[in-house]
Amino acid sequence: MSAFIGKYADELIKTAKYIATPGKGILAADESTGTIGKRLASINVENVESNRQALRELLFTSPNALSYLSGVILFEETLYQKTSDGKPFVKLLEENDVVPGIKVDKGTVELAGTNGETSTQGFDSLGARCKEYYTAGARFAKWRAVLKIGPTEPSELSIQQNAQGLARYAVICQENGLVPIVEPEVLTDGDHDIKKCAAVTETVLAAVYKALNDHHVLLEGTLLKPNMVTPGSTSPKVAAEVIAEYTVTALRRTVPPAVPGIVFLSGGQSEEEATVTLNAMNKLQVLKPWTLSFSFGRALQQSTLKTWAGKKDNVDKAQAAFLVRCKANSDATLGQYAGGSSGGAASESLFVSGYKY
Ligand code: 13P
Repeated sequence: MSAFIGKYADELIKTAKYIATPGKGILAADESTGTIGKRLASINVENVESNRQALRELLFTSPNALSYLSGVILFEETLYQKTSDGKPFVKLLEENDVVPGIKVDKGTVELAGTNGETSTQGFDSLGARCKEYYTAGARFAKWRAVLKIGPTEPSELSIQQNAQGLARYAVICQENGLVPIVEPEVLTDGDHDIKKCAAVTETVLAAVYKALNDHHVLLEGTLLKPNMVTPGSTSPKVAAEVIAEYTVTALRRTVPPAVPGIVFLSGGQSEEEATVTLNAMNKLQVLKPWTLSFSFGRALQQSTLKTWAGKKDNVDKAQAAFLVRCKANSDATLGQYAGGSSGGAASESLFVSGYKY
């Protein structure tokens, strides 16, 4: 069967291609209310709507930062929020040629009988929600599937459930005009080596693309958001060039050239590590039929959050820190990052065991 071609096909292809523009990437600012609460708690700021709005306003109004972004992923609450001057965030992003996106999954639940493996929830009224989000201005979506590495994990059950879930989500998005970001995240938790992560990532991606094909997803109107291939969180670190080589090899073996762009999650790497590794991938002299960019959450926001600390007086400095990260990652998408932005919080590990988004 051929790929689904609905009334949105041309628009989906155009949007996905635009988001994958070299030199630009995605800011993941779609932390759920619980997750943003943990970030705010780390700077002693209360998790109330006004503070969540203030953090997002700080990010979206950072002078010049939006020129390095092609998309921002929002949480439902943020999709409908405004700047303190009353301009809807969606409008602000659109005026700066940044495509608004929306997290549509509802987190994970444990798969019974497994050792803590999960399936992602959010299918109830997903089509209707996508329609509403499109009306509100969203043009792409995110759904995070999570897999873990263990002695017998990921299990076949978890690989199949998550691949099927991502494929079903993707086609529902496309029926409603949203480009689906397909995110099968293999967690870094564990003491495995990089080879194990490479093997698991390849198996998972192969299953995901088989499922996308079975569900008639239009690959040209999708983006992939994978983990980088790294050693486990408690294993010795390896050089960025080694991560780059393993990651690009895994992707070349499994991701069809019809996919316009691959936008990595940062997965607990420090801001600087994530940038340097992205740069190393873009410097690799092998055929890469898709663009390689970023869709970072933690690795774009950490120094900004720390610098802000919830104080109005710090907004300018925090925005300057955000600009540094956006520019560094933009350079990295072109393989032109020269280093030099690793000061402050940028080198701190952002790893959280069993990370929930
Ligand atoms: P991190 O970059 O913080 O890993 O998260 C990005 C994201 O959107 C995960 O779904």
